Amino acid sequence: MTSNALLVSRHHCLVPEKFKIRQIVESLKKSKFKLIPLLEVTEESIKKVLNQFSIILARNIIQDKNHEILYTQEFNLLMDLKLNEDFPNYILEMKIFSNSQESLNSIQSIVKQKFSKRLIDGTYQQKNEIERLNNLLKIVSPNGKLLYDEELLPLYQLINDDKLRLRLKKISSTFGVAPIHIGYLKSRLKLSKEEIIKLTSDNNLIAKKFHIECQSCQFPSEFMFETKEKIEGMLKNSSYSCPICKNKKYKIDEVFCLNEKIEKVISQGLWLEKFVDRLIKERSTANWPNRVFEGNEIDNVFLSNNDTVIVECKDTSFGIYDLHTLMIKAEDLNAKYIIIVTTNKIHENVKKQIEKFNEKRERQIITIENNNSNVIKTQFNNFIQNQFNKELNDLFIKEDYRYRRFGRLRLKRRM
Ligand SMILES: [Zn+2]
Repeated sequence: MTSNALLVSRHHCLVPEKFKIRQIVESLKKSKFKLIPLLEVTEESIKKVLNQFSIILARNIIQDKNHEILYTQEFNLLMDLKLNEDFPNYILEMKIFSNSQESLNSIQSIVKQKFSKRLIDGTYQQKNEIERLNNLLKIVSPNGKLLYDEELLPLYQLINDDKLRLRLKKISSTFGVAPIHIGYLKSRLKLSKEEIIKLTSDNNLIAKKFHIECQSCQFPSEFMFETKEKIEGMLKNSSYSCPICKNKKYKIDEVFCLNEKIEKVISQGLWLEKFVDRLIKERSTANWPNRVFEGNEIDNVFLSNNDTVIVECKDTSFGIYDLHTLMIKAEDLNAKYIIIVTTNKIHENVKKQIEKFNEKRERQIITIENNNSNVIKTQFNNFIQNQFNKELNDLFIKEDYRYRRFGRLRLKRRM
């Protein structure tokens, strides 16, 4: 397999007690992919070697009639088939690994044809875990609703740009949604005229508005207008007098207000939750973003293989109190992994606590601390990729064990 991102698809199917794994192996061998059963072939090739030493292999040493691993000639696909028993059920588990979505889809459709409606997406264990989590994580948090706001969807994409988002964050922390003069946007926030036009006209991140200002004392009127003409029309029939200095001369000023919803998304760090949610959705079909569980908000929960992962996003500092509440949530949900994504540095004391928790090995805490969204993305995807690779390696652990047993057998005979 090449180093391209590894994709996995998992399925399971209830089968009758008398089901033999060879039935499906044979049809996959005959399919257009001409899949090669690794364990079967390995046995043959090892037999050949052994025969040279006049050793006759006991059949059941390598062959497990309830397990087979198949691969394609081009090595771009590996498939694991296992028959498990969860009395009274017999379950055929299937995992397909590939770096090609196309091959993955084709194999899936071959398998689906064979098992028609009985084939279920995900592993048997995942199905049970999904049922459990569906029950626990029913309530969507108020923030969750904002993450799926139709109006905001195109804007979320824009604020993933770190430079732009940090500027908007500066506006948000200084002004909130109050009007800002163009001069401030240009000089203090270093926004160019083009950027301002883009932010106001193209996408409504910042709304352009007009108001009246006293020419003498610069006192601004609190009333906002969509256009200059509306103010002029209104002043045709009335006269202006400054409420502070009573001056009668005014000017119409162009001002800018941060979109109210975007202000909330940025000031409360919801953009990060949305960003991470997108990364999760690319790689996991079982996920529960922004839920309320026992009165606490949980940013995200998802399944990585059969393991439950809980994710906490912080656009501010992640402190010791955050760590403790997160550990309680993880324990209540029985999560195996905890991912902390924070745009600030985690304090050394908190890091020491995390190390301590990790040494216990009950669950693992992974920290991603960076204010660059590309780095967050890479590190997050690395975690998921490592999980896939681990899953793939785990398929062969038993095989290693078999080879070891086998190696001993050979030595014994030679002595
Ligand atoms: Zn005045």
